[in-house]
Amino acid sequence: NLSDKLDKAFHILKGHGKITEVNVAETLKEVRRALLDADVNFKIAKDFTNKVKEKAIGQDVLTTLQPGQLMVKIVKDELIELMGGDAVGVNLSGNPTVILMSGLQGSGKTTFSGKLANFLKTKKTKKPLLVACDIYRPAAINQLHVVGDQIGVEVYSEPENKNAVSIATNAIDYAKKNGFNVVIVDTAGRLAIDEEMMNEIANVHAAIKPQETLFVVDSMTGQDAVNTAKAFNDRLNFDGVILTKLDGDTRGGAAISIKSIVNKPIKFIGTGEKMDAIDVFYPDRMADRILGMGDVISLVERAQEQYDEEEARKLQKKIAKNEFGFDDFLSQIQQVKKMGSMKDLVGMIPGVGKAMKDIEIEDDAFKHIEAIIHSMTPVERKKPTLLDAKRKLRIAKGSGTDIQQVNQLLKQFDQMSKMMKMMQGAQGKNLMRMMGQMKGMGMQ
Ligand code: GDP
Ligand code: MG
Repeated sequence: NLSDKLDKAFHILKGHGKITEVNVAETLKEVRRALLDADVNFKIAKDFTNKVKEKAIGQDVLTTLQPGQLMVKIVKDELIELMGGDAVGVNLSGNPTVILMSGLQGSGKTTFSGKLANFLKTKKTKKPLLVACDIYRPAAINQLHVVGDQIGVEVYSEPENKNAVSIATNAIDYAKKNGFNVVIVDTAGRLAIDEEMMNEIANVHAAIKPQETLFVVDSMTGQDAVNTAKAFNDRLNFDGVILTKLDGDTRGGAAISIKSIVNKPIKFIGTGEKMDAIDVFYPDRMADRILGMGDVISLVERAQEQYDEEEARKLQKKIAKNEFGFDDFLSQIQQVKKMGSMKDLVGMIPGVGKAMKDIEIEDDAFKHIEAIIHSMTPVERKKPTLLDAKRKLRIAKGSGTDIQQVNQLLKQFDQMSKMMKMMQGAQGKNLMRMMGQMKGMGMQ
């Protein structure tokens, strides 16, 4: 992947005391190859390396002691620049705010419509309405209803109506009458760009005059993503890009190319199929991610969002008083599970992401643990020291596990209690606690 390639590229510079014309050229050849491998457009890769070269062969750069690090910084800054510099939010003006989704079939429009509605709903002042304008497949209307039910957001649809423009305008009337202040219009896509699709979405666009037209694109489609983006932008002059499926084989290439070709900001990324797998796009974090440093800040933010402050305070008291028991352990597991799939999270931890790449983590990695705890009596949960051989055997039988697994859990519980006590008052303790848990669960 790109970060490995860049690692290699920078490795070339190691052992050289200075950045010179020669070793820069060597390094940049690797950087360019890495970018091309990550599906970055050829011309963009070339411009990029030229810019980096100009900066690297600069004045004091020549005498620096750590050329490798300096190159990383130059490359990173250039990447950030290329991806748009600062994060750009969604324009929420208008009442209602109308947001139109565009993109090919399968790019993730319907999923992202749900994620965005869910995201806006948590801002207490927003009441979103989802609109089903994919009129060609009855299953598509259904899919949006399923999504809406999941997140508790109303879905407007007219299964008998075969005119996307009238559905969309009716939906906006409905929103005005019923107090919805954001209208998210999900549309039909085709497997490839065709005139009919383009005309339809252009007509909807002209009729509803959205505050935001978002182009949704699958980040795994590489070069094609750039061509599709260009075609949609020529027709709709969209306001922003949504890069989905960045949870899989994370190739940053699309992010780099699209911004430079259509000059529109990437606003959000999709990092999984679940409704909470959405993140604001931060160019600097993406650059870090591409460079293999892990998106720690997103991880911390997500952890903080989901972590109930009240719970945390109660828990801290218990830890301080040595009253931390298995019931608390269980609710901690539930907290961790709430934060989305383990794979998403683990992949964001620097160093861990790479090592974990080939290891399959089950979402229900906690199933045994939960079963064991459920088989304990309330008293045992409060006082794990009660657990003698006889009780352990009973618990193992009751939970369909074996003594070793029960012992293993007890050991992990013990380690975790110790670690939590140690981290009392430390900065970022929520995150540390969570990581400690993951580690304790055999996920290191
Ligand atoms: P649409 O045809 O553009 O509406 O695309 P859908 O929303 O139906 O998504 C197509 C498929 O991609 C579905 O199976 C989604 O679950 C999946 N999908 C969408 N966004 C993401 C994402 O960010 N990550 C992953 N892994 N899958 C996604
Ligand atoms: Mg759809």
